[in-house]
Amino acid sequence: MSVRNVIVIGSGPAGLTAALYTARANLKPLVIEGLEAGGQLMLTTLVENWPGYRDGIDGPDLMAAMREQAQRFGAEIIRGNVTSVDLLSHPFTVKTSDAEYRARALIVATGASARLLGLASERSLLGHGVSTCATCDGYFFRGKPIAVVGGGDSAMEEAIFLTRFASHVTVVHRRDTLRASKIMQDKAFANPKISFEWNADVEEIKDTGKGEVTSMVIRNHQTGDVKDIPVDGVFVAIGHTPNTVLFNGQLDTDANGYIVTHAGSRTSVPGVFACGDVQDHVYRQAITAAGSGCMAAIDAEKYLEGLPQHLGEAAHVATLE
Ligand code: NAP
Repeated sequence: MSVRNVIVIGSGPAGLTAALYTARANLKPLVIEGLEAGGQLMLTTLVENWPGYRDGIDGPDLMAAMREQAQRFGAEIIRGNVTSVDLLSHPFTVKTSDAEYRARALIVATGASARLLGLASERSLLGHGVSTCATCDGYFFRGKPIAVVGGGDSAMEEAIFLTRFASHVTVVHRRDTLRASKIMQDKAFANPKISFEWNADVEEIKDTGKGEVTSMVIRNHQTGDVKDIPVDGVFVAIGHTPNTVLFNGQLDTDANGYIVTHAGSRTSVPGVFACGDVQDHVYRQAITAAGSGCMAAIDAEKYLEGLPQHLGEAAHVATLE
């Protein structure tokens, strides 16, 4: 079986930037896209905070451009989902449902998935009033009433941030106490633009045929009261899940399941590098993911250069038969 220099798992901004840089280093990377090809930006509409696009760019268009740019320099991008990896022996083994690959260096860019409530209306209106990122989308709701779902630090942080734009923010939480830290709770309670709906579940997000959010139906599960609250936006902030199942027991993760990186993008296994949201629960921006993808590519290149002679020479060849 041929041995690749680099395999990149994941095709969001981190994975495709890692692919661009390793391709330009003549390492002929193989990118395995994953189930959510293009990552979280495929679920957004206008991205206004990607530098260089003064008037913004649609998330899917940005990802298509990144993909073509990486391919232009020789990155091979294939559909497929990785089903298992073996990082215990080197070269590493990466299996998809229908193929097996080996690589000297591996870049993990599998991202994190924002948790969703699981409503059909929520998924169909993602990018059309439903959002999982206040930093990305808050600006679109200037002077409009919106809701934030969740009771943790992210929900409070988003609610407070969104009061800069929104006319009012309704926080909908499933219990009657917040999970968020005391300081965040105090800030949210003190903000005159924020009100709370306690013990409440979101039953439906409505668009009344407009294709954009118009209201949200919530039910208080203690009293049974149902309310239809007019809102233009619903920010779902009920946490993220890093996509690390593949690496369980093979790479060190933190208490929340994120891959631990050190000295740039290095993981606990030499030759395995991680970038983007799978190792970052703090910034979670496309631009920071892309930046860390660049770091992972440079780290992987240095690692390959440092391999023993017989492997190092091969590091600048596409594949070894
Ligand atoms: P989190 O702490 O897990 O909170 C998730 C919230 O969403 C909880 O209030 C939870 O309700 C609610 N929730 C979960 N599933 C739900 C569902 N299906 N339906 C309705 N509500 C649901 O997640 P997070 O807020 O994203 O924070 C993640 C970590 O990052 C935490 O350690 C947090 O402290 C940290 N963080 C820190 C800061 C900061 O310090 N500035 C900012 C953001 C995040 P329950 O409370 O009932 O479980």
